[in-house]
Amino acid sequence: MPELPEVETAVRDLKRTQPPILGAGFVDVWTDFRKMIKLPKTFEQFKKEIKGKKIQKIWRRGKNILFELSGNKTLLIHQKLTGHLLLGKWEKIAGQWQAAIPGPLAEDPMNRFLHLIFWLDDGRQLALSDLRKFAKVQLGDKEEILKELEELGPEPLEKNFIFQKFKEILSGQKGKIKQVLMDQGVIVGIGNIYSDEILWTAKIHPFRDISKISETELKAIYQAMRKILPRAIELGGESISDFRRISGGRGYFDKERKVYRREGQKCSRCGTIIKRIKLAGRSAHFCPKCQKL
Ligand SMILES: [Zn+2]
Repeated sequence: MPELPEVETAVRDLKRTQPPILGAGFVDVWTDFRKMIKLPKTFEQFKKEIKGKKIQKIWRRGKNILFELSGNKTLLIHQKLTGHLLLGKWEKIAGQWQAAIPGPLAEDPMNRFLHLIFWLDDGRQLALSDLRKFAKVQLGDKEEILKELEELGPEPLEKNFIFQKFKEILSGQKGKIKQVLMDQGVIVGIGNIYSDEILWTAKIHPFRDISKISETELKAIYQAMRKILPRAIELGGESISDFRRISGGRGYFDKERKVYRREGQKCSRCGTIIKRIKLAGRSAHFCPKCQKL
């Protein structure tokens, strides 16, 4: 699932694109999976409401991408498990959407699961490729959409999110540290990949009960989080599975992964074989020697 670095990469890519996407307007939309659109209730209504709206601002909150539009509307896209946004040009050839220009959009199979396409007034299309079709799309008045985000915890990379605040928030929690870090109501943006990486760096076992974490260890977790997430953004996120950038290209955090999906390989710190264990239906990857329970 795209986590904070991948979602932030998508937002930055969108804002950086030439010609600028800010100011572009929606002229049409297509989907073959209406269930993806949660708001408004019908696709006909969605189509009617988005047509003619211009993109005024793009930002991220947790794993959500928000497009603020003219007419006080906001479009929210949560890429969920396997979704990623792409910007390009496609044509329907023999019933299949085909990228019009050679390159990663045409060549990488992960960019071929198009289930939602917006036509922009500058001739480009904004598309959502989503292998497993779990993505969530909502369009509504700004206030209505922002309400959806009320339950989210703080942003881990915000300047004023100092260690003291991190400590306060975590001290009120119960359970295993990995699960707490992944709880979007506690802190946003961290999922399976980056919780594994943060805990390996901090040398804490993913199953450690939060009540048994010392202040020094908590500080190590905080510091790892503030180092790994920006580094992953710098590298354009990870593309070990399905995530791709707006251009269809890959992110390069994969090469810096220490434990995530490295079970059976040697820990780069101590040489012990990295293990994978199940935690509430998800996997945790860790070094049994340098991460203490
Ligand atoms: Zn180790």
